[in-house]
Amino acid sequence: MKRILVTGGAGFIGSHLCERLLKQGNEVLCVDNFFTGTRANCEPLLGNPSFELLRHDVTFPLYVEVDEIYNLACPASPIHYQRDPVQTTKTSVMGAINMLGLAKRLRVRILQASTSEVYGDPDVHPQPEGYCGYVNIAGPRACYDEGKRCAETLFYDYQRQHRMSVRIARIFNTYGPHMHPQDGRVVSNFIIQALTHQPITIYGDGSQTRSFCYVDDLVEGLLRLMALDEEPGGAVNLGNPVETTVLALAERIVALCNSRSTITCHPLPQDDPRRRCPDISRARDLLHWAPRVELDSGLTRTIAYFDGQLARNAASVQM
Ligand code: NAD
Ligand code: UDP
Ligand code: UDP
Repeated sequence: MKRILVTGGAGFIGSHLCERLLKQGNEVLCVDNFFTGTRANCEPLLGNPSFELLRHDVTFPLYVEVDEIYNLACPASPIHYQRDPVQTTKTSVMGAINMLGLAKRLRVRILQASTSEVYGDPDVHPQPEGYCGYVNIAGPRACYDEGKRCAETLFYDYQRQHRMSVRIARIFNTYGPHMHPQDGRVVSNFIIQALTHQPITIYGDGSQTRSFCYVDDLVEGLLRLMALDEEPGGAVNLGNPVETTVLALAERIVALCNSRSTITCHPLPQDDPRRRCPDISRARDLLHWAPRVELDSGLTRTIAYFDGQLARNAASVQM
């Protein structure tokens, strides 16, 4: 049994990770400033004596005793990370420095939740880890992309300079229960619109692509990367290699929700990547990992979650 720190543990991915780590018999210290995460995401875990929730901002130093660190703290959706771009960069960079400093003092392994956004609007498809990316340094997404790139650099430098054991997961679009209902992301937006029979808001003509990984698969990849005995020697892509257009996603969600929603087109946001799809050869070789949950099955589970949330909200309004 280990005592494991999960920063950003009250968020979408972090709350699933905390749950899995507890199920494995570990103690979990969840650290979160609730910028986008909620206590509700951790509600089922709060009664567990092996779970501790600490309100803390990772841009400030943290002195705790743990055996392993997963650094997930950072808003992930464009509308959230663009709300306070300076804080987003601070969270990525100063958060990484503080968590690396903590890992260095304790001599423990640390995993960074990096992102496919380090590839920017890529001109190589699918994206392998060796691709250096095509990021607009001055655009509205740069606070997130460059913050995450700098965090990765810090991880490589701490590894070389202080001979630390570090893991970097480049996470591609992930979806599932506990996604923030107002995060403006394509899966949550489309599901809520379809369930409430509102028009589906496609940005651009819907021909841009993404590859959607169900959260359980992603968490399994994170656990395997952390548990790997050998040093991986660089970042590892974690995502689903099945590429889908945004239009096709909209049509699947409308069908699965049995919705009367129509499809409407809106302007494409600035710097919106045209295509994104992971090359997961390294994850297959090193971790023997590949996503298992098919899109329809993952969407069905996510739709059930949002349906429950909408019903709960409606009931609390009536009370
Ligand atoms: P999320 O916004 O649901 O979770 C992030 C959590 O970090 C939230 O609970 C938030 O309150 C917390 N947080 C933010 N700033 C903080 C700070 N300064 N101090 C402490 N806590 C802070 O996002 P998510 O989708 O669960 O993403 C988790 C991690 O995975 C992020 O680092 C994100 O960049 C990365 N990631 C996610 C995706 C995805 O598709 N969801 C894709 C690529 C990378
Ligand atoms: N740090 C922390 N917890 C610890 C150890 C360090 O939050 O248990 C922070 C500390 O505030 C420092 C940062 O991590 O600013 C980087 O630590 P490091 O030892 O690498 O750098 P230094 O302290 O020498 O600047
Ligand atoms: N998108 C869309 N309608 C929405 C929300 C998003 O068409 O209501 C598009 C968005 O422009 C992008 C894709 O869906 O091309 C994925 O967007 P998301 O914000 O989920 O993730 P990211 O752009 O960070 O991959």
